[in-house]
Amino acid sequence: DDRIERIASTIRVIPNFPKPGIIFQDITTMLLDPKAFKDTIDLFVERYSEKGISVVAGIEARGFIFGPPIALAIGAKFVPLRKPGKLPGEVISEEYSLEYGTDKMEMHVGAVEAGERAVIIDDLIATGGTLCAAIKLLERVEAEVVECACVIELPELKGRERLGGKPLFVLIKSA
Ligand code: 5GP
Repeated sequence: DDRIERIASTIRVIPNFPKPGIIFQDITTMLLDPKAFKDTIDLFVERYSEKGISVVAGIEARGFIFGPPIALAIGAKFVPLRKPGKLPGEVISEEYSLEYGTDKMEMHVGAVEAGERAVIIDDLIATGGTLCAAIKLLERVEAEVVECACVIELPELKGRERLGGKPLFVLIKSA
């Protein structure tokens, strides 16, 4: 698909952000290119239309950029998975490990019902810890996580292996 190469060319790579040694993949430059942004959304919409998906769960913060347009286009609800203390209602939360220390992800109780079919969206998978926590949140309420989807995968970090066999769909693999 020749859309993918164009999308990849709009992603900016910033060395030593947010810390020395990290090569940051910056998707904000893709958002400045309406065709690349639209093609990105279209590729996900083409994949998830007509699959009985009723939930698009987006991971804070960049999953909030890609998730809502996909949800609207396929006729699914959008569910934000947020950093701790941000959601005002009753939540369930899942702790996960970072390079240094731990973080938490939260979801509103009642946002997703048992038996719903969900896709989880984020911009990028690195070690897979973030998506793994998201999968656990949805499975705790007995939703079926059909697939995880990201714009970019860093395959060297083997995040895919942390997803417990859950399918992962990505547009771009980056070194
Ligand atoms: P993981 O838990 O897979 O190690 O890290 C993935 C999370 O960190 C995602 O929520 C993603 O937004 C963020 N992240 C880590 N590295 C990068 C990067 O290079 N670029 C962007 N845009 N996000 C990153």
